[in-house]
Amino acid sequence: LGGSISRAIQQMSNATIIDEKVLNECLNEITRALLQSDVQFKLVRDMQTNIKKIVNLDDLAAGHNKRKIIQQAIFNELCKMLDPGKPSFTPKKGKTSVVMFVGLQGSGKTTTCTKYAYYHQKKGWKPALVCADTFRAGAFDQLKQNATKAKIPFYGSYMESDPVKIAVEGVERFKKENCDLIIVDTSGRHKQEAALFEEMRQVSEATKPDLVIFVMDSSIGQAAFDQAQAFKQSVAVGAVIVTKMDGHAKGGGALSAVAATKSPVIFIGTGEHMDEFEVFDVKPFVSRLLGMGDWSGFMDKIHEVVPMDQQPELLQKLSEGNFTLRIMYEQFQNILKMGPIGQVFSMLPGFSAELMPKGREKESQAKIKRYMTMMDSMTNEELDSPNPKLMNESRMMRIARGSGRHIREVMEMLEEYKRLAKIWSKMKGLKIPKKGEMSAL
Ligand code: GDP
Ligand code: MG
Repeated sequence: LGGSISRAIQQMSNATIIDEKVLNECLNEITRALLQSDVQFKLVRDMQTNIKKIVNLDDLAAGHNKRKIIQQAIFNELCKMLDPGKPSFTPKKGKTSVVMFVGLQGSGKTTTCTKYAYYHQKKGWKPALVCADTFRAGAFDQLKQNATKAKIPFYGSYMESDPVKIAVEGVERFKKENCDLIIVDTSGRHKQEAALFEEMRQVSEATKPDLVIFVMDSSIGQAAFDQAQAFKQSVAVGAVIVTKMDGHAKGGGALSAVAATKSPVIFIGTGEHMDEFEVFDVKPFVSRLLGMGDWSGFMDKIHEVVPMDQQPELLQKLSEGNFTLRIMYEQFQNILKMGPIGQVFSMLPGFSAELMPKGREKESQAKIKRYMTMMDSMTNEELDSPNPKLMNESRMMRIARGSGRHIREVMEMLEEYKRLAKIWSKMKGLKIPKKGEMSAL
């Protein structure tokens, strides 16, 4: 798939004159890729039309950077399609918010509820889980198990069959207990049924959620639009979470969900475990949709940002899959050297949304410096070991003492390292393109 797009773009860059035929050929190839990624046919067609409007053939003929212009236009257009124009409601720590999860059975609601709660708990929130799924046997047990593992308070019942009653009781109880993030898990059903949507409407009316999150399985395919729209028609969906992004599906249905609900994607699920949950980052997502992997933009950036003489060595190390603490240290050095880091590094996978949120570059920089101070107290063995288990408590204590930081901060730094190492482990086995070979979108 990626190959066909690269080929299309290659063909285009070889043509001395970019005429309409070449542009069409390229668009057709990309259309095929997007359809295979489950992007809705109508949306693909809209994209094509817009691209033709944006890309002026005469400009292309005159300009030198034709390939880049078309690539950038397609990329931007897809990013735009994922941006509904307004941010979703964002709960505030310390202020009570009720968040209701909806979606078909098996989409990953219960799992995602816990991930969402756990994510906020780690940041100092007081979340709580309410199981309003009385439809599926075992639903409450599943939520209970998840919640217990994460030490998050939960509410539900084995006896009560009225989801509205349980939802209201749970929300009231946790409001009294001053929880600031009350999460209501709901039932699914296999199909879209009138009864399900009526139930969602009732639960929503009774609990008055500040935010309704639509949970969508990335492998749902072309059905995404109708499904999202059906939920939107019964409850005020305000955000989307796409699950199972660790699988083969590229998640093109997300474009449909955004279009149908006019709401942004806020997180993605990347595994069955509690911490396999990432803030949605539009650029790597779009690269993936186009079949170019998360690395296309990154590869381009690496050539710009990492000093020439260090590039082969770094890429070699990454392709071996050994993202050591020393590599992280070196990347931090590069980041600090670059000055206004936000923009340049917004394409480094994992470095952008989480570590360096937009508008908080100063804080991020301070954090990175703090991490580096701690890493200065590490031994060579620790910096070069690909084994995270090496970092036991006594080592962490020593590093904390040596750098004058709290052990909690050392743990936080190591958590950050693990998160990045996991993302970067996808580099393993990657064929490393030479400068200029990669058609970066
Ligand atoms: P619900 O019926 O909507 O509540 O869905 P569940 O939360 O019970 O999830 C259905 C199945 O999908 C379970 O086996 C989950 O472990 C799995 N699942 C949920 N999210 C993800 C994900 O991001 N990645 C993977 N691989 N599996 C997931
Ligand atoms: Mg469930």
